Amino acid sequence: QAKGDGRNNFSFFSSDMNKDMLERITLEQSLRRAVLQQEFCLHYQPIIDNQTEQIIAVEALVRWLDPKKGLIPPDQFIPIAEETGLIEPIGEWVLQQALSDLKGWHEKGYLINMAINVSSRQLVHSHANEFACLLNGLLQKFDIAPQSLHIEITESMLMADTEQALNALNAIRALGVEIYLDDFGTGYSSLSYLKRFPISVIKIDKSFVDNMLEDKADANLIKAIIMMGQSLDMKLVAEGVENMAQQEFLQGLGCDYVQGYLISRPLAEVDIIELLADAAKTQLEEIELNWETA
Ligand code: C2E
Ligand code: MG
Ligand code: MG
Ligand code: MG
Repeated sequence: QAKGDGRNNFSFFSSDMNKDMLERITLEQSLRRAVLQQEFCLHYQPIIDNQTEQIIAVEALVRWLDPKKGLIPPDQFIPIAEETGLIEPIGEWVLQQALSDLKGWHEKGYLINMAINVSSRQLVHSHANEFACLLNGLLQKFDIAPQSLHIEITESMLMADTEQALNALNAIRALGVEIYLDDFGTGYSSLSYLKRFPISVIKIDKSFVDNMLEDKADANLIKAIIMMGQSLDMKLVAEGVENMAQQEFLQGLGCDYVQGYLISRPLAEVDIIELLADAAKTQLEEIELNWETA
C-alpha cells in the first residue's frame, strides 16, 4: 500500500472528524444557552381509550425553539443533553411546565392525566429518593393528585443501572405516580424486569404497529405483548397509530389505549386546549342524548 494513500485517508477522516466535533461543540454551546434562556416548549399528544375513544391523557413532548433554526425535535438534542448532563435542568423545566399546564386544564374542568418522558440520568442519583422528592414537591406546588401523573421510561433505562433504577422507580411509585414502559420491544431487557419493576402500563413501540397489518410476524408479536401485559395485570398503549385499520385491529386484540397521528399529532398548548374543549362538548352532548332516549 502506498504511503500517500494513508496520508490522504488520514487527512480526509481528520477534517471530517473536525467538522463533526465542531458541530457538536457548537450544538452543546447553543444548548447551554437554550437552558439559560429557556428556549423550550412543550407539545402535547392525546392518548385515547380504545373503546370509549375518550382522551385519558396527553404526553408532553419537548421541542427546542432555537431563535435561528426554529423548532428542533427532541431526537436532535436529547442525546447530547443526556451526555452533557443538561438533561437535568431541561427535564426539570419540562416537569414544571407540564404540571403547570395540567393545573390550568384541571381548573378548566378537563380532568385528564399527564405523561412525561424521563431519562435515566434524571432518575439515578446518589440517593434514590431525589427524583421522587422533586416530583412530590412539584405535585404539591401545583396541587395535583399523583394519580394524574405518569412517568415514561425506556427499557434501556432498566438495564443501565438495575438496582438504582429499581429503587428510584419504587420511590416514584410510592408517591402514587404510575410508571409507563415506553418503546417496548425495541430494547433488550429481560422479561423478568417486567415483574420486578413497578410498571403499570406498557407502550408498544410504533415499529411493530407500522407493519402489523402486512407482516404476520409483527401481528403475532403484538398479540403476544398484549397477552403478556394482560397476564401481568398491566394496561397497554399502542403508539404510532396512523389509520383506522390499525386502530380496529388493536381494538380486536383488546389493546386498552392508542396514540398516534390518526387521533392527533402533538399540538401546541393553545391547540390541545381546543381539542379538550371539543371533546368535553361532544361528551356532554352524548350524555344529554342518552338522557333523552332513556
Ligand atoms: P416517545 O416518547 O416514544 O414519543 C413518541 C414519538 O412518536 C413523538 O416524537 C411523537 O411525535 C411521535 N409520534 C406519535 N404518533 C406518531 C404517528 O402516528 N406517526 C409518527 N410517524 N410519529 C408519531 P417526538 O416528539 O419527536 O419525540 C421523540 C422522542 O424524544 C420521544 O419518543 C422521547 O423518547 C423523547 N422525548 C420527547 N420529549 C422528551 C422529554 O421531555 N424528556 C425526555 N427525556 N425525552 C423526551
Ligand atoms: Mg414517550
Ligand atoms: Mg414511545
Ligand atoms: Mg418512540
